[in-house]
Amino acid sequence: MQHIKTNYHTHHELCGHAQGRAKDYAVAAIKEGFEVLGISDHAPSKLHYNPRVRMPWSAFEAYLKDIESAQQRYGSQITILKGLETEFTEDDPAYYRELLDKVDYMILAQHYVPWKNGKKPFKSVFNLKTEEHIKAYGKYIMEGIKSGYYVAVAHPDVYMSAYPAFDQTAEQVAHDIIDTAIEYDIPLEINAQGIRKGLIKTNDGLHYRYPRKEFFRIAKAKGARIMVGSDAHTPDSLNDESFQAALAFADALDITLIERLDINP
Ligand SMILES: [Zn+2]
Ligand SMILES: [Zn+2]
Repeated sequence: MQHIKTNYHTHHELCGHAQGRAKDYAVAAIKEGFEVLGISDHAPSKLHYNPRVRMPWSAFEAYLKDIESAQQRYGSQITILKGLETEFTEDDPAYYRELLDKVDYMILAQHYVPWKNGKKPFKSVFNLKTEEHIKAYGKYIMEGIKSGYYVAVAHPDVYMSAYPAFDQTAEQVAHDIIDTAIEYDIPLEINAQGIRKGLIKTNDGLHYRYPRKEFFRIAKAKGARIMVGSDAHTPDSLNDESFQAALAFADALDITLIERLDINP
């Protein structure tokens, strides 16, 4: 099995649904033999704040300082990067620039799709059920990739979470995302958090909600750059059996994973 010694997708207790601070992840990463640890918690947002989903603006400085103190303490043993995971939902370049000014990198992860016709302004990506829903998801991911703000797309196939089958529309959305990622040279992530959620049974049989083989088979065939992300929400899940299963998932599809992202701290 491929051995990957980097993880760019790591959370922090400030988001309200993860455990541990930067130093806790640093200690775990060193113990597990990682060489690069990117902390990329859910960024504060002007549009949707929920204390169980993301850190408040008031915690942002503390987040940055917490990573810096881990860098000072453990920087001789491991490269620790300051990152964020953001939604591409805000039509506000100043917002993204403000964040990018403060961190080394951002990963794109859509958990919400703006939805103008509904009672609420957003739809959860874990509840996209129609062709229209998943096409909208694809559109925001493509725009996010083109924005130039991001070094990678986390769980690009998360749109399959509640969609009944990998049908023609799902395949078209996959092609759109993958083609754009290739054009802009942005890696797509096989996400271990999807594996932690277990297997489900749909019209396509038994499989993970995400990552989906159908999606990554296309990505591999087209020559996209593919990485794994632990998406660890606890220090002990950095290199857990689901992270190992993500590596096995890549192996099964004969995918050679990229290990390093080009990030200058
Ligand atoms: Zn999270
Ligand atoms: Zn994440």
